[in-house]
Amino acid sequence: MSGTSTLLEVSGISVTFDGFRAINNLSFNIGAAELRAIIGPNGAGKTTFMDIVTGKTRPDEGSVLWGEMSRNLLKMNESQIARIGIGRKFQRPTVFEDQSVSDNLMMALKAARGPWRVLVWRPKEEDHARVAALAEQVGLGDQLARKSGELSHGQKQWLEIGMLLAQEPKLLLVDEPAAGMTLAEREQTTALLVELAKTRAVVVVEHDMEFVRRLDCKVTVLHEGSVLAEGSLDHVTANPKVIEVYLGR
Ligand code: ADP
Repeated sequence: MSGTSTLLEVSGISVTFDGFRAINNLSFNIGAAELRAIIGPNGAGKTTFMDIVTGKTRPDEGSVLWGEMSRNLLKMNESQIARIGIGRKFQRPTVFEDQSVSDNLMMALKAARGPWRVLVWRPKEEDHARVAALAEQVGLGDQLARKSGELSHGQKQWLEIGMLLAQEPKLLLVDEPAAGMTLAEREQTTALLVELAKTRAVVVVEHDMEFVRRLDCKVTVLHEGSVLAEGSLDHVTANPKVIEVYLGR
């Protein structure tokens, strides 16, 4: 693997669905503590890319290597990939609405300890402290006793990020985190993602250019399953090919 700071190395992957190439010789790297935005028009291959990294979809060719030991992710199943440190946040929050913030986080902590311990596991003082710390980390420190169903849309998204953090992921894949959020929530989400990316890799798939601008990070533009452009948002949005296919000008 090139350079010790590379966490994920995707090389020459392709995926064909019923004769249609959804991912076409896609290559790129993600650094160990990097915030990266992936943008691209509908059908560009963003979801399929995340499906490959999380083991849901297998590419027909290419390699996906992980960490300094260059472990082959394509030989692992979805739960092994989750355990190795890849967490995925889908667009819709999937918290348990009738449970408190604290209970949701505790369930996530329990699940992170491994399924074989769930039946016998009883939370200790340190687990309650960890739950409080996770809530604090995602801006819900004063909401621990609140029923999750009563949280705002943005707070539910943060809670779910907190639940993912219970697994201590080294890479967090986040799908359209700002969708449906108020301006204040978007600002808080930006700050949260920037903070999280100081100690792990965070890859954000996002349509909202204003939100991507706030993230102020390297951007990868996907188109027809390949990287069309990469660099700062200003750099990629000045690229004539990006303007043509993505911005429609
Ligand atoms: P994006 O997330 O960028 O919108 P996707 O990764 O969802 O793009 O899809 C890329 C292309 O692959 C699209 O044209 C989509 O219709 C196609 N595709 C995705 N999954 C399947 C599937 N399971 N079967 C057939 N075609 C698929």
